[in-house]
Amino acid sequence: EIDSNFYFLEQNEVRGRMPVRSKFDHKGTLGHALLIAGSYGKMGAAVLASKACLRAGVGLLTVHVPHFGYSIIQTTVPEAMASIDQHDSMFTQFPDIRPFSAIGVGPGLGKKQNSKKALFELLETANVPLVIDADALNILSENQDYLKKLPEGSILTPHPGEFKRLVGDTANSFDRIQKQQEFSNRYNCIVVLKGAHTCISTPEGKLYFNSTGNPGMATAGSGDALTGIILGLLAQKMTSEDAAVLGVYLHGMAGDLAALKKSEFALVAGDIIDLMGEAFKKLG
Ligand code: AMP
Ligand code: MG
Repeated sequence: EIDSNFYFLEQNEVRGRMPVRSKFDHKGTLGHALLIAGSYGKMGAAVLASKACLRAGVGLLTVHVPHFGYSIIQTTVPEAMASIDQHDSMFTQFPDIRPFSAIGVGPGLGKKQNSKKALFELLETANVPLVIDADALNILSENQDYLKKLPEGSILTPHPGEFKRLVGDTANSFDRIQKQQEFSNRYNCIVVLKGAHTCISTPEGKLYFNSTGNPGMATAGSGDALTGIILGLLAQKMTSEDAAVLGVYLHGMAGDLAALKKSEFALVAGDIIDLMGEAFKKLG
């Protein structure tokens, strides 16, 4: 039986997890994130996750995209370095992973056969924590043996549909939480089950329920922003638990600030990213 601890994520629970900057920090000490994302018609997911990752304070970001995405990513996110797949429209090989302190994979990835193979290879070789989202989760749902290869400290960020693909049907929300907890424990990973009260589960059985966020965030690209934020925090060598907790809380807080400014109706994912700075200051 798993020991359970429930937490409601409010300002006091989260504030102490903020990373501290030293006067002598430079971009080489603040982590190098690798993001693997984007496919035809879904480069926006790569762009949003990249921008969000940078807004989370990472030192360096490299984005690996299919060949056709080269000019898109370089012109929309000039702060990021681009790693270009030799294939025009899918992933055949991911870059040498040695320089990176954390790796995010999934937003807009697509599910082409070669991209699946590249993801499996990444799981065979990665030795830093992964943030796994979207199509990368869908690929792993169909190939669950690879979940056993998740590097220590990895974080999965399913929305309810993706979670259902991972664990099957759940009878009710209590059953769903239990399945989430079991999943975290079995695969030794953190699961961020997204929704109105996003629930974060740890391998040890802790459950955190988020208090920030609003229905205005039910909009395209909102989850891609979260993936980027968590990746950016994780790459700065925060613990996985801190990165998930702080990332979810800040993402919701930036969403709340965005709703104040733009209304819940007009809010778009880019607004959440633009207000990350205000969220950091408010939490500061
Ligand atoms: P995705 O479905 O991957 O785009 O992720 C959606 C993001 O928006 C997640 O971070 C959710 O927690 C957040 N979100 C969606 N709907 C709501 C809601 N009603 N209240 C608060 N947050 C929400
Ligand atoms: Mg998503």
